[in-house]
Amino acid sequence: MKSVMQTNFVPMTKEELNAKWTNIGNYFRANSIWMLMYCTGCCAIELPQAMTSRYDMERLGMGGPMATPRQADVILVTGYLSLKTLRRVIYSYEQMSDPKYLVAFGSCPINGGIYHDAHAVINQLDQYLPVDLFIAGCMPKPEAVMNGFQDLITMIEEGSATGWKDYHANFEWYKQNQKDAVGGEVFIHDEFHE
Ligand code: SF4
Repeated sequence: MKSVMQTNFVPMTKEELNAKWTNIGNYFRANSIWMLMYCTGCCAIELPQAMTSRYDMERLGMGGPMATPRQADVILVTGYLSLKTLRRVIYSYEQMSDPKYLVAFGSCPINGGIYHDAHAVINQLDQYLPVDLFIAGCMPKPEAVMNGFQDLITMIEEGSATGWKDYHANFEWYKQNQKDAVGGEVFIHDEFHE
């Protein structure tokens, strides 16, 4: 006589299944972060130390730098941002595909830093683009940069690096601030070849 195996298998609901796939996706995203090669200010000088043998950020799965925004997961704003550069950073950020992350280095993107009263430099980057993580300091040491990257990895894995969602949800607000700052629409097309 055949025996029938009894199991306590309970099929997952669609929501539970989606949550599982999201967690798996976040795990792989967190361990394979490609960054865009785009440096704006003097904080960028800390990146070579973070990349090379002493700190070796590649062991965290952080690769690149990528030459185009379309292949990158994270854009690093490494210090002060002039109005002219802000336009290019917006242009680059919008070319990246979702999910995407923005990390800002130094005091300049937080409150303008030593350029807080300069007419050509923005004071608060998060008024124009969603910042997932600020790494404080002027300039932040490589240890701080590495801690920041580890925090970003944790945030991605937990699903709390959601600046890109915030950008979609508050798109009109960001656009208005961008227009007020740069004096007109930041058109997302190939403005360099018109
Ligand atoms: S925070 Fe300091 S080191 Fe970084 S861009 Fe500003 S002035 Fe330069």
